[in-house]
Amino acid sequence: MNTLDTRLDLSTTLGGTMMDVPLNIGWVFEHVLRNHGSRQVVARLDDGTTFRYTYADFGKRVAQLANALVALGVKPGDRVASFGWNTHRHLELYYAVPMIGAILHTVNIRLFPEQVVWVFEHAGDKLVFVDASLAPVVARACATTQAEKNFSFVVMGESDALAGADDYEALLAGQPEEFPWPDVDERSAAILCYTSATTGDPKGVLFTHRSTVLHALCAGLSETLGFKGSDSVLPVVPMFHVNAWGVPYLIPMIGAKLVLPGAKLDPQSVVDLVNSEAVTVSLGVPTVWLAVRDLLEKNDAYLPTLKTLVIGGSAVPPSLYDDLDKRGISVVHAWGMTEMSPIGTVSRIVAELADAPHAVQREKRLKQGRFAPLVAWKILDENGNDVPRDGKTAGDLWVRGPSVTASYYRVGSDLPCFKDGWFHTGDVCTMDELGYLQLVDRSKDLVKSGGEWISSVDLENTLMGHPAVREAAVIGLPHEKWVERPVAVVALRDGQQVDEPSLKAWLGERIAKWMVPDRIIFVDAIPRTGVGKFLKRELREKYRDLLSSSA
Ligand code: AMP
Repeated sequence: MNTLDTRLDLSTTLGGTMMDVPLNIGWVFEHVLRNHGSRQVVARLDDGTTFRYTYADFGKRVAQLANALVALGVKPGDRVASFGWNTHRHLELYYAVPMIGAILHTVNIRLFPEQVVWVFEHAGDKLVFVDASLAPVVARACATTQAEKNFSFVVMGESDALAGADDYEALLAGQPEEFPWPDVDERSAAILCYTSATTGDPKGVLFTHRSTVLHALCAGLSETLGFKGSDSVLPVVPMFHVNAWGVPYLIPMIGAKLVLPGAKLDPQSVVDLVNSEAVTVSLGVPTVWLAVRDLLEKNDAYLPTLKTLVIGGSAVPPSLYDDLDKRGISVVHAWGMTEMSPIGTVSRIVAELADAPHAVQREKRLKQGRFAPLVAWKILDENGNDVPRDGKTAGDLWVRGPSVTASYYRVGSDLPCFKDGWFHTGDVCTMDELGYLQLVDRSKDLVKSGGEWISSVDLENTLMGHPAVREAAVIGLPHEKWVERPVAVVALRDGQQVDEPSLKAWLGERIAKWMVPDRIIFVDAIPRTGVGKFLKRELREKYRDLLSSSA
């Protein structure tokens, strides 16, 4: 890209320029309070009751929280962790922490204990805010790793599982409802979120104020998420997964009602909340909606207010799309990554297809979609050339833009995924003539089960630690409930014997139970490429229907 410096000309020779104000989260906050103060935030609490307040009252509590944070000694640049569900308190942290110049580290509550403590330590968290219902999880993680003494906890709700923890409400009580907000530089860090690496430790993505505001603006456009101020929006996607896809900033910014589901995400609880809060739009990974669909079918029920369901994180199963379509719910398929803040593409119908038959529109809507503004992309073949836009030829997807990460926190950019200002997504895609992206494969060695990552390489290494196993290749296969589940293909050492149940049981003692492969297939030898890598594409092809037929 051409990098001519035109700024100098504008401000000096031409004598005029625009205001240079920082794009920070404070702008969003100020806008929400001054323009949408009467709109509502609703949060379902652990006891099943709902808490509701207006954005104006939310603003007062955000100021109280900021005062409390300062009183606790939090300084600009400090990391403050959250370990929680989608709640109003979590939303308050999303604003107060970055708006005083500190960094909110949203921790994935599904990490296993060692990783939880590892990310607290790697981030250097000064303070950890924990939902009461999750306090025992954190206490266990700290006890397992004997790390508790290193962290200061604040519990949100009532729990005495974390000895010596402060109580969130007690910290806020009596604090002033105003705060002298600093004008935080737009390039300072606002949020830190770790994502699974193909192997080894999780990697931290550090979002800046600027990247966060630009992402919210682009996500809000009519050709991307396109929500309205009159919507009632239920983010089922967790606030510990890439900023709940930008919802905590986008929804208040447009003044829509925000409905936060808390810990209860079973299908009946989701259905009840949609109905009681007249939810018009929801967002989440397919697994939640597959379960909701089954419940609706069983009870012959409908969700009369729900019009739009944004599904991403994994590909939308066509049957889910069709079933929801029949119920008058329009599925909007989206693709993105933690490294992209996360939204990359959204599948909406382009003007050229406005009058196209349903089947044509359906085919496009099932693709991952068209790129959001401010995301540049290229799809390259193995020689580094652009693939044709024919919807057939697949290549590696690279992206670039102001909301795409340039490096990983405390790791840097000296990795093959960062090259010449571009980021390698690890997704293998096609692009058609109308600009619809479709994911056809993944070059990164990861399996995505119910929205959570499992590293194939880590699983393979664990399996190969078994005395009877010579080699193991782990692949992700389509699964009705979890979208994808791991399956291991294993070759045994000469003269060694082990059966599937005992190998699974052995694995279960070493890794989280939900990561144990659904099936272990024994073969004489695993097919390999010319350079000796496992030919996973061939394995995926061969066993494609293994889980669907046995499910
Ligand atoms: P994460 O950073 O955990 O959000 O994961 C990002 C990755 O999830 C992407 O690189 C894709 O491999 C996968 N992914 C996200 N959205 C979709 C989608 N709509 N269809 C298929 N895979 C997806």
